Amino acid sequence: MSLAASSDAMYRLLIQSVVDYAIYLLTPDGHVANWNPGAQRAKGYTADEIVGQHYSLFYSEAERAAGVPARNLEQARSTGRFEEHGWRLRKDGSAFRAHVLIEAVRDEAGQLVGFAKITRDCTEQYRAQLAQREQERHFRLLVQGVRDYAIYMLDTKGHVVNWNAGAERAKGYCSDEIVGQHFSVFYTQTDRDAGLPALSLATARLEGRFQADGIRQRKDGSHFWTSVVIEPIRDEDSGQLIGYAKITRDISERRHQELELLKAKELAEQYSQEMTTLSQFLDSVIANIPASVIVQDLQSREILLANQQAERLFGGQGVSMIGKLPGQGLPAAAADYLQQQLGRGARSTKGYSAETRVDTAAGARTLRSRAMLCQNREGQGDYVLFVAEDATEELAAHAQIHHMAHHDALTGLPNRTLFHERLKQALLRGEDSGRLTAALCLDLDNFKNINDTLGHAFGDKLLRALGKRLRRELREHDTLARLGGDEFAIVLTGLESRDAARNTAQRLIAAISPPFRIEGHQFTVGASIGVAIAPGDHEHAEQLLGYADMALYEAKRNGRNRFECFHVELDVAARQRRLVETDLRTALHLGQLQLHYQPVVDPQNNAITGYEALMRWEHPSRGMIMPMDFIPIAEETGLIHELGTRALNLACQEAAGWDSEQTVSVNLSPVQFKNANLVDIVALALADSGLPATRLELEITESVLLGNSDENIRMLRALKDLGVAISLDDFGTGYSSLGYLRSFPFDRIKIDKSFVHDMCDSREAMSIIRAITELSNSLMIKTTAEGVESPEQMERLMAEGCSNFQGYLYGRPVPASERLKQVGPLGE
Ligand code: C2E
Ligand code: CA
Ligand code: CA
Repeated sequence: MSLAASSDAMYRLLIQSVVDYAIYLLTPDGHVANWNPGAQRAKGYTADEIVGQHYSLFYSEAERAAGVPARNLEQARSTGRFEEHGWRLRKDGSAFRAHVLIEAVRDEAGQLVGFAKITRDCTEQYRAQLAQREQERHFRLLVQGVRDYAIYMLDTKGHVVNWNAGAERAKGYCSDEIVGQHFSVFYTQTDRDAGLPALSLATARLEGRFQADGIRQRKDGSHFWTSVVIEPIRDEDSGQLIGYAKITRDISERRHQELELLKAKELAEQYSQEMTTLSQFLDSVIANIPASVIVQDLQSREILLANQQAERLFGGQGVSMIGKLPGQGLPAAAADYLQQQLGRGARSTKGYSAETRVDTAAGARTLRSRAMLCQNREGQGDYVLFVAEDATEELAAHAQIHHMAHHDALTGLPNRTLFHERLKQALLRGEDSGRLTAALCLDLDNFKNINDTLGHAFGDKLLRALGKRLRRELREHDTLARLGGDEFAIVLTGLESRDAARNTAQRLIAAISPPFRIEGHQFTVGASIGVAIAPGDHEHAEQLLGYADMALYEAKRNGRNRFECFHVELDVAARQRRLVETDLRTALHLGQLQLHYQPVVDPQNNAITGYEALMRWEHPSRGMIMPMDFIPIAEETGLIHELGTRALNLACQEAAGWDSEQTVSVNLSPVQFKNANLVDIVALALADSGLPATRLELEITESVLLGNSDENIRMLRALKDLGVAISLDDFGTGYSSLGYLRSFPFDRIKIDKSFVHDMCDSREAMSIIRAITELSNSLMIKTTAEGVESPEQMERLMAEGCSNFQGYLYGRPVPASERLKQVGPLGE
């Protein structure tokens, strides 16, 4: 049964009369089976033209190529229905927006007999819809995009309905937080209490608009000034209230500017009032300032104004200057001065300044003045203004301060600052005149001891007396300065020769040598002097002084109470010292410091009773460096503490490995006694190495007993209490007091090698050795003779009763590894 055949007349009529819808049937393969007037109207084809054609004709070329028509039919077939809004083509090729419905039509057996297709042209609605959507979108963008205005809607009760970006920015709430809240949250508590929110809504409702400026609060509680407009929104048709549109603008800044303006205005008013009092004020200023003020008329040269100070200073009590010519009726000196200053002022608009010593009515004063021409607007000279200040006292105070800053309070001599100035000046002058300039550094020998034993007050008196003696030896234009402590420095100027400087240095030493008599004490002090001469040694002040200091250091090294002149070798040596100092630090860390061991022998049985540990520095580039070349530097720089600790630890460790009862002797520098931990360091070296204390000997020199001796003797006792032996090294060289032997129970005395060296030729050396051995033997102290080089020396020393020998005759100091390979009289 065909579909067409099954349609009854009514149906056919209905279909045929529908004109708004194109209704037609398709065969199962998509050919048009019939065609209603609506279809003809929609698509432009007559029934004759289209029936029998394939319906894909209504699709665009592209859609046909993509198989869209077949797919749509397929969907209608499989699901029973296909529906879409899409574009279709008319006969004339124009496109229309169509609502398309394709329904599968089946017979009772479920067999597909075709498709009913209903198409409606909805191009116009579609366009209208598009236009409206676009308009809405624009409006939304507009309102939401507005950032300077907070724009939002309220419902009739005042709840927030929506919220734009400007609102978020102004009030700090995001739209989620605020929509649904009552808009009174934006008002301050006071405004809320006054019912302002409700009032403004009522105004808007009744009058069609509410507008006001006011304070609102943000989410974070902060306040801002705002300008608010509220307008009611009504339904267009019914006129019923739907809600309110609210537009708010932050006007804090504008408000702020208005306030500023107001303030400025007030200030200006205040100022003009002040101006009227200003001239009165100026009058009283002029009358009362501690300066002399004079105003002269340029034309007539008459004095128009002179304050009291001016009249008192220049004329004396009761003299009036006003209306007179300058100087008229004044003492000659004051008259000259004023005429001169006013005359200079009249020629200068910039002002003429001077500092002048003037004989005034108040005596000789130093006046600091300024005179200048004051012109009116037309540029004609009008007045000469003169102001003078009495600077006499100020200058005296400055001079006092200057003196204090440049002189030493104790001796009244120039201090370091002035010394430098004088030295610099002298060098400049010397350069011009071709004469020599010398810098001398002077330092007392053992001043510290005098201070310590006799007290500081006594030391001060000595320094003053010393200053006087030195000053007496110098010429007027030489500078003697005290740099601090017992350090003095001298500039000798205009010297003809280097000898002149030497002679002065010698004279200064001679001047110090006679005994000083202070507080009933009579005593002598020695001084060392270093001399450096410009331009030969150096022409710069700093450097020259540095060189003089180096020479001083050298003088002290060479035995004190003498002078030494700078020569380049000293600089080289000083540099060398600095070099060694930095190198020595590295050496410590890199383990370049080692110990060599020299045997100590018992002559009775030729047995080695022990070894002395002697430090060596294995320098990577300079080779082996001997202690003489670095121990003194280590002592100066304090590195000796680390060096000494290293020696102790190393010696104890190595000796602990010797399989005998041999002792090891370690040298202690006097500087090490300044370290309160010395006893702990020794105890630790023993504990760490496991060396029995009885196998360690510590060698100290007499200088340890000098100086701060009570404390040092206490430390020596503590060391001895550890169980170690204490030797007195180099005995006979220093202060050589046999009394030292009684001040501490030494275990051993080491006779210095210089006596051993001289003993065969010098009776004196021999008798010293004898005295030492006799005393030691009586005190039961062991003796070691050092520097034994010949069998002859050995025999004589044995005869004197020396208990032990040490020297090249028995073995030189060697590294630990070679200790047992020693040859000598022992091996024979
Ligand atoms: P010192 O304590 O008097 O040491 C003895 C010095 O005499 C050593 O010199 C040694 O090599 C040398 N000597 C030994 N036998 C003879 C000899 O027969 N003839 C001659 N002419 N000399 C001999 P060295 O090793 O150069 O040490 C010099 C000084 O350096 C030592 O004199 C000591 O005062 C100091 N010293 C060495 N090591 C250390 C140390 O670890 N710490 C401290 N503080 N000073 C040390
Ligand atoms: Ca020694
Ligand atoms: Ca020695």
